[in-house]
Amino acid sequence: MGKVIVIGGGAAGMMAAIRAARNGHRVTLLEQNEKLGKKLYITGKGRCNITNDCDTENLLNNVVRNSKFLYSAFYSFDSQKVMEFFKDQGLAIKTERGGRVFPQSDHSSDVIRALQKTLQQEEVKVQLHAQVADILTVGNESRSVSGVCLTDGNVLRAENVILATGGSSYAATGSTGDGYRFAKNLGHTVTECRPSLVPFETAEEWVKNLQGLSLRNVTVSIRKGKKLLFKEFGEMLFTHFGVSGPLLISASSLVNDYMEDMPLAMEIDLKPALAEEQLDKRVLRDFEENKNRQFKNALSKLFPTKLIPAIVHLSNIGGEEKVNAISREKRMEFVHLIKHFPLTLQKFRGFNEAIITRGGVSTREVNPSTMESKMISGLYFAGEVLDLDALTGGYNLQIAWSTGYLAGDSI
Ligand SMILES: Cc1cc2nc3c(=O)[nH]c(=O)nc-3n(C[C@H](O)[C@H](O)[C@H](O)COP(=O)(O)OP(=O)(O)OC[C@H]3O[C@@H](n4cnc5c(N)ncnc54)[C@H](O)[C@@H]3O)c2cc1C
Repeated sequence: MGKVIVIGGGAAGMMAAIRAARNGHRVTLLEQNEKLGKKLYITGKGRCNITNDCDTENLLNNVVRNSKFLYSAFYSFDSQKVMEFFKDQGLAIKTERGGRVFPQSDHSSDVIRALQKTLQQEEVKVQLHAQVADILTVGNESRSVSGVCLTDGNVLRAENVILATGGSSYAATGSTGDGYRFAKNLGHTVTECRPSLVPFETAEEWVKNLQGLSLRNVTVSIRKGKKLLFKEFGEMLFTHFGVSGPLLISASSLVNDYMEDMPLAMEIDLKPALAEEQLDKRVLRDFEENKNRQFKNALSKLFPTKLIPAIVHLSNIGGEEKVNAISREKRMEFVHLIKHFPLTLQKFRGFNEAIITRGGVSTREVNPSTMESKMISGLYFAGEVLDLDALTGGYNLQIAWSTGYLAGDSI
């Protein structure tokens, strides 16, 4: 059996190394950090949302880019197989709301430990502090992989190399985008890389006064002119620079193609359960109860305290105005404001706050049934280095496990 080098000891690289070793190959896993799985450690707020307990169609539906490319990978190693894999390694797992699978212990370190134990069992040679400088090839017309060169000058030979260096987000974990450079040097196309699953900055500076305020059960919509790009119900968060939280993190992925069109108009429906007419009745009732108070002091039943100054600021009613002096017209405008609370999305935050990189090695140049390069034989790709990304819920790690598995299995 041949020699296999895996570059990158993240989720995809560890899975690829395990699978290739189980196929009987002599596998070396090269990781530049002092330990394996640094990004895996911070996933799911330290709990690691390993995968999503759903069928393959559902997995595919949650992939935002190039989902068709993942057919073979997902069918070869779906989320049920991922769960079985970890259970076989002695990791107890649990499924939470929305099918999100976590280790029973809530510690991502247990996921890493299970993978390390398996690497050891399969006799994968793990080399830490091993930073790859380039991938070596032989041949002119038809090129094939011959090994890798490390930054310390050492050359390691192998007939097969799996590139699993991750993307560009959270570079401190080791994903500094090296894989894109290696792939480009070998003639592969790398599509434009952008941060995704990332918070937004807003044009409105007053949002920083709302920092830390989380709104549940609201509907957020995002529009480019009249075109509706995103509309979902859920939870969001104000930050010192703009907006974040589950709704906006998902939105960043779904409106990512409109990044150049920013600023985009965002609206929050603060009372989505009530139609404007019903809401007006509710407001009227509150106004009745507080008719002798100032407007700013009559809103505590409708909104969280922190939001009230912003609401007053955006309304056409002075904060000190007596409630019984508010005209019907102004009240109707106020009701409209509650259903269409406006913000302006100015730009995405950077890669260091992005859960995922959008873009990467073009999937057109990679065989979807094997993960092998269509240009260089013996070169395989796995994980986030590829131009693939999905929504939150365990789907991005599923991409890493499945592509890693298929790459390792194909050798
Ligand atoms: C904060 C955060 C939370 C997340 N939570 C979740 C979650 O709960 N569920 C989910 O599904 N997804 C989550 N993700 C996304 C998920 O972590 C990634 O999609 C996944 O880790 C990608 O795996 P990978 O193996 O392709 O890359 P990585 O995990 O980034 O691994 C790449 C490895 O390659 C190494 N490397 C890079 N260059 C070189 C080189 N030149 N030489 C040697 N080694 C090199 C790096 O050091 C690194 O260890 C989260 C991401 C972040 C940032």
